Amino acid sequence: MPVQNRFAEFADELTEWRRDFHTHPELRFEEHRTAALVAERLEAFGCDEVVTGFGKTGVVAVIKGRETGSGRTLGFRADMDALPITEATGLAYASETAGKMHACGHDGHTTMLLGAAKYLAETRNFDGTIVLIFQPAEEGGGGANLMLKEGLVERFGIDEFYGMHNWPGIEAGQFAVLEGPLMSAAASFTITVKGKGGHGAMPHMSVDTALAASNIVMAMQSVVARNVNPLKSAVISICGMRSDTDTFNVIPDTVVLKGTLRYFDKEVRKVIGERMKAVATHAAAAYGAEAVLRHHSGAVGPTVNDAQAAGHAAVAARAVTGQEPVEIDPVMPAEDFSEMLEAKPGCYVFIGNGPSADLHNPHYNFNDEILPVGASWFATMAETRMPLG
Ligand SMILES: [Zn+2]
Ligand SMILES: [Zn+2]
Repeated sequence: MPVQNRFAEFADELTEWRRDFHTHPELRFEEHRTAALVAERLEAFGCDEVVTGFGKTGVVAVIKGRETGSGRTLGFRADMDALPITEATGLAYASETAGKMHACGHDGHTTMLLGAAKYLAETRNFDGTIVLIFQPAEEGGGGANLMLKEGLVERFGIDEFYGMHNWPGIEAGQFAVLEGPLMSAAASFTITVKGKGGHGAMPHMSVDTALAASNIVMAMQSVVARNVNPLKSAVISICGMRSDTDTFNVIPDTVVLKGTLRYFDKEVRKVIGERMKAVATHAAAAYGAEAVLRHHSGAVGPTVNDAQAAGHAAVAARAVTGQEPVEIDPVMPAEDFSEMLEAKPGCYVFIGNGPSADLHNPHYNFNDEILPVGASWFATMAETRMPLG
C-alpha cells in the first residue's frame, strides 16, 4: 500500500491531535503540555528510545529500521512553540489563552512528525536510523542552538537533517524544494543616539537627538541601495524609534532606534555591519550627536539547503504528490533550523498551506488537509533515502 494511503487512514486522528495542540499553545521553553503529549505518544508507538527534557522542553526519539547496515542516521525535525499573539480566527478550537497562538503552524509541524513516527515505528521499512526531533523555542528562543549545544548530533549520530514548514500561498499539499539558500539570516540591532536635551522653544541650546535619529533612519537605507552588490539580497529595516520624553516641548536627551537585518551571504553581512556603523556615527555627528550601534545576540544564520539533500527531498516530494515540486524564490523570514543545517547537511522544504492568512497573522490557521501529505513526506524520506536492501 502506498505510504500516503496509509496516512489517509489516520487523517482524522491527525486532525484531532493538531486541533488539540492548537487549543493549547505554549510559548518558547514553556512547551510542557505539548512535550508531555508528544513523548507519551512516541512511547505508545513503540519508538526504541524517547528522551525528554533535551534542550529544556525538547523531545527526541529514535526509531531503528528493519535493517541498519547502511549505518546512516537521518534527523527529522519539527518545532512545537506558539507565538505571543491573540488569536482572531473565531474557530471552535481556537486558542483558549489570550496572547498565545499557534500562528506559525508549529501545531501542524509537530502533528505531521508524530504521524510519521507512528507509521515508521510500525513499518520500519528502511535501512538505518531515524531520529525524531521535537524542538522547543523556534520563535526567537534559540531552541535549535540549545539542542545542538546539548550534543544532538553527537549523542544520536545524526548524518543529515530534514525539516518542513507550511507556507501560505503555495497550493495546499504541494512541495517547494530549493537547492542553496531558502530563508534569510536575521539579526536585531539597536542604535542609541545621545545629544543634549532641552526646551523645545530653544533648540540652539540643545543637541537635537530626534533630528539626528531621523537622519540615521534616512541614511541607513543607503547601505543596501549603495553598498550591497545589487545582485545580492539584504534588508535593513528600522522598526522602532523611542525617545526618553513624552511631551510636546522637550527635545529628548536620548533616542533609541531598533531594527532588523536580513541577508543570505556572510560577505554581505560584513559589508552591512561596517557601513551601518559608519553611517550611524557620521549621520549623528552631522548634528553634533553621538550614535552607538549594538548588534544583539541570538542572530540566526541563513537556511541553506545542501544540493544532494535537496535532491533526496525532491524525490520524496514527487513520490508523495506525483508532481514536480513548485518553483519559488528564497524568502526573507528566518528559521533556526538553519543552525542544524550548519552542523550537518540537509534540506528544509515548504509544504503549501493553500490560500490561508499569512504566518504570524491573528487570522492564520494551519490547513488540516495537508497533515497526511506532510507526514507521508517524512515517512517517504526514510524509505527512499535509506531503502531496504
Ligand atoms: Zn514563525
Ligand atoms: Zn515557524
